[in-house]
Parts: sequence; structure tokens; C-alpha cells
Amino acid sequence: MDEALAIAFQESKAWEVKFSSPDVLEVLCNPSVKVDIGRHSCTCTQWQLNGVPCVHAVCAIKKSGKSLNACVEHYFHVECYREAYSRTYYACSYAVET
Ligand SMILES: [Zn+2]
Repeated sequence: MDEALAIAFQESKAWEVKFSSPDVLEVLCNPSVKVDIGRHSCTCTQWQLNGVPCVHAVCAIKKSGKSLNACVEHYFHVECYREAYSRTYYACSYAVET
């Protein structure tokens, strides 16, 4: 995950951003997009669909000085993965008709 975000930042490094508010920024690329960090959204819609900041959001978050990890949905964090697999799961047995 960290590597993907680092690659996204490298791609977007040259883009300029304009602040509309502390959480809402316009990323000046082609085409330009609006990123709302507080709502975890970008007008390209990739952030809303994937739960991981898109390349525009990574650019906006980095240039705003906010934490990139805090902007990734919690279910992509290691703690959430460990919590999901911390319990014992038993296989179900049932007859399969062919
Ligand atoms: Zn985007």
C-alpha cells in the first residue's frame, strides 16, 4: 500500500494545487479535479470507489501537509486485517449433490 501511494505521489509531484478551504483543493492537472480531503472524495471518483486515495488525492493530501495514512479507509490498515483473522473459523461440512 505504501509503495502504491509513493508511486502516486511521484506521478503527481509536478501538479499545482489551489486551496478552496483547508480540506478542499483543486488539483491543476489535465483535466483539473476537485479533492475534498474531509469527505474522502475526488471528482474523478476513484477515491470513493476504491477507498484508497487516487493520484489526485495523494497530491492534495501531501501538499496540504495532512497524513496520507489517516486518509486511507480503516479496513485497508494492518490492524483491521489482523482483527478480521484473529478468530478461529471452522469449515462448514455439507453434502454437495452432483
Ligand atoms: Zn482523483
